[in-house]
Amino acid sequence: MARVSTVTGMVEADQLGTTLIHEHLRNCDEAVRNQWPQARAFKEDPPHEVGPDEVYDIAVREAKAATDLGIKTIGEPTAMFLGRDVNFMKRVSEETGLQVVPCTGIYTYDHLPQFFMNRDPDQIAEFFIADIEQGIQGTDIKAAFIKCAADEPGVNENIEKIHRAAARASVKTGAPIMAHSRPASNTGPRQIEIFEEEGVDLSKVQMAHTGDTDDLDYIEGLLEKGVWIGLDRYGLDLFLPYDKRQATTKALLERGYADRIFLSADSVATSDWFPPNVIEQLIAAGAANDWTIRIVPEKVLPELRDWGLSEEQERTLMVDNPVSWLTA
Ligand SMILES: [Zn+2]
Repeated sequence: MARVSTVTGMVEADQLGTTLIHEHLRNCDEAVRNQWPQARAFKEDPPHEVGPDEVYDIAVREAKAATDLGIKTIGEPTAMFLGRDVNFMKRVSEETGLQVVPCTGIYTYDHLPQFFMNRDPDQIAEFFIADIEQGIQGTDIKAAFIKCAADEPGVNENIEKIHRAAARASVKTGAPIMAHSRPASNTGPRQIEIFEEEGVDLSKVQMAHTGDTDDLDYIEGLLEKGVWIGLDRYGLDLFLPYDKRQATTKALLERGYADRIFLSADSVATSDWFPPNVIEQLIAAGAANDWTIRIVPEKVLPELRDWGLSEEQERTLMVDNPVSWLTA
């Protein structure tokens, strides 16, 4: 039996159990936090700001909520620029029992620091490979998958470079890739093309956020390439309303794609990307509804069961697919 790396050690793949493949225990701007640790925005000042202890407490609360709903494992795609901190993940995992599968990679839509601007894909891949083979951030916690992203600016020069680095690290180590995509900008086909050019086994590639569209032609065009797709932003109505997400999931299940799909929410227990009052305004405006780690086990799956999702299909979606992708 293959084994999968978690923040608390290697586990047999059949011990992953029910898995949400794409949830974040925390999301923060690591550069700002590092340079201005004393900034008022990072201090306890409830209810306006979320302080460091509260960030941990909320992550624990959300992780516990997930385990209470039968979730045993999450894929944690927090990479560079999203505030990756494996010791934070490990503390949350140890306190709650939720297994957390960490990643390597760079999350950017165009910007790269000079350090990576001036290095080629092979040199960047070395960083990812070190995380996979040796461990992350000075620990012996190994990355289980590689994250990269393309969004509204498209697959520009910097994004192509990171995709090639991710691809080469995958070819060298066998690690799977999770590629953040943006269907509204048609990024998926070009992202897959780069992976193909680099010789990546496409059965190792997961196109995250494919569920932000209900265009079945676009989605099937990706599936025909042999990749996995993430229907992974349930609750983020900003990009596609909940009912359209569910309709898309049902249509894909009817077309026989249960063994290519992931259901998740891309939730963030906390985020410092926006000031709290702006987050409140966005939620009030309907950008997100029930957008938490709980939405799939609490709402999406029960509805799908009522609709006719079989026990076997549910096991495929929530237990077998994560194992297949992580150990492909
Ligand atoms: Zn994400």
